[in-house]
Amino acid sequence: MIRLLFTLCFTLFFCSLFAQSDDSVLIRKIADEVLVNGTAYSNLHNLTKKVGGRLTGSPQMYKAEEWGQNALKDAGADKVYLQECNVPRWVRGGKDEAKLIVGDKQESLAVLALGNSVGTDAKGITAQVILINTFDELEQRKDEIKGKIVFYNYKFSPKFIETFLGYVDAVRYRGAGASRASKYGAVAVLVRSITNSTDNFPHTGAMRYDNINPKIPALAVGLWDADKIANAIGKNNDVKIFIKTNAHTLPDTVGHNVIGEFTGTEFPDQYITVGGHLDSWDPAEGAHDDGTGVVHSIEVLRALKAIGYKPKHTIRVVLFADEENRGDGGLKYASEAKAKNEKHIFGLESDAGGFTPRSFSFVIAKDKAEIIRSKWIPLLQPYGVYEFSVGYGGADVEPLNSTFGIPIAELNPDSQRYFDYHHSPNDVFENVNKRELELGAINMAALIYLVDKYGFN
Ligand SMILES: [Zn+2]
Repeated sequence: MIRLLFTLCFTLFFCSLFAQSDDSVLIRKIADEVLVNGTAYSNLHNLTKKVGGRLTGSPQMYKAEEWGQNALKDAGADKVYLQECNVPRWVRGGKDEAKLIVGDKQESLAVLALGNSVGTDAKGITAQVILINTFDELEQRKDEIKGKIVFYNYKFSPKFIETFLGYVDAVRYRGAGASRASKYGAVAVLVRSITNSTDNFPHTGAMRYDNINPKIPALAVGLWDADKIANAIGKNNDVKIFIKTNAHTLPDTVGHNVIGEFTGTEFPDQYITVGGHLDSWDPAEGAHDDGTGVVHSIEVLRALKAIGYKPKHTIRVVLFADEENRGDGGLKYASEAKAKNEKHIFGLESDAGGFTPRSFSFVIAKDKAEIIRSKWIPLLQPYGVYEFSVGYGGADVEPLNSTFGIPIAELNPDSQRYFDYHHSPNDVFENVNKRELELGAINMAALIYLVDKYGFN
C-alpha cells in the first residue's frame, strides 16, 4: 500500500511538472531570484536610512536622485539618466506647534502643517475653535466662522473594506477645507488626520488653495488629540487653539525623474514603463509611501536581468519626481514621451505600500481585460495576486493613459495597514516586512514579463 502511494505521488509530481507552462516556469524563476537574491529590502534600507524623507525640492530630493541612479546601475540597467522636471518647493521650516486652551489650562497637540500650507507669523495664531463635521455643516453655520479656527472632525469611515475608499471619502477635507473655511472668515484650519490608525501620529499630505479666498494655515492633528478637542468643545463653549507653523513656499526648482532602461531585443523603441515615486513627505522616511514602489520597480529590472530574460520591448524603470505636491514627474514623463513621438505599450506603478499583494487595478478596454482574467491571474495566484479590477491605474502612470490611450495598472497590496503609516512620522523602514515586499516585486516582474511577451492582443 505504501509503495502504491509512493508511486502515485511520484507520478503526480512528474505529471504536474510536465503540465507546467513555460510561463509558470519562468515566473517561478523570477520568484526564486527575488526570494533568494533579492535586493528590494536592502535597497529600501539604504533609501530610508541613508537618504530618509525626501520632500520635493529639498536637498534630500537630490540625494535620492543620486541614490536612484546608483541603485539602477547596480541592478544592471543598460542605461541610466535623469529627465529634468520643474517642481514646487514647499518648506515646513521647523517644528509645527499647536495647543488646546481651555480656561487657563493648555495642552500640546500632535500636529503637522499640511503640504502647500502657508505659515503663521512668529507669534502664531490663537483663536476660538469651532468644530465642523462636514462641508454641509460648514454651510449651515457659515455665520459663526469669522475669526475662528475651523476644526474639521470628519472621520475616516471604518466601513470600507478597501481602505483607499475611506481615504478618497475623507481626503476632501484636507484638500479643500482651508479655502472653504477661509471663504467665511476662518483664520486657520485644523483637520482630523486622514487615517484609521489607533495612535496619535498626525498625517500630513497635500492641500490646495483656490484662487479666490485668502490663504490660511492648515494643519493635521492626530486622532487622540482630535477626540480631545471634540471632547473639550462638547463640555465648554470657550475653547481656544494656538497654532504656529513656519511653513512657506519658495520658487519652483528643478527636479528629475530618474530613469533606468533594460533595452528590448526586438522592439527597442517600444516602451513598457514600471515605476514608483521617489519623493516623500518629510516627517518620516517615506518607506511605504513610496519607497516600496521605488524598490519594487528597481527589483523588476534586476530580477529579469539576473535570470537572463531578454525582453522584446525596452523596459523602463521610472523613479518619478514630485508625486506628492503637484504630480509633476508623471506629467513630465508622458509629455516628453509625446514630444519625442515614443511608442508606449503599458505603464505599471506601485504606490499603495509594501504589503502582501492581492490584485492589480487596471485601466484597460474591456475586451483586452479578458486575457488578464483568464490567463494571467492564474499564473500570479501562487505568489499572492488572485484578482484584478478595472478603474484606477495610479497617479504617475495615469498621464501615459490619457496621452497615449494605453493600458496602465497599479499593484494593490492588502490595504488594511496602509493608512496607519501614510504621510505620518511612523512611515519608516521598520514597518515594512521583507517577505511581503518581495512578493510585490515578484508579481510586478511577472506582469511585466507577460505584457512584454504577449501584449494585450
Ligand atoms: Zn505615494
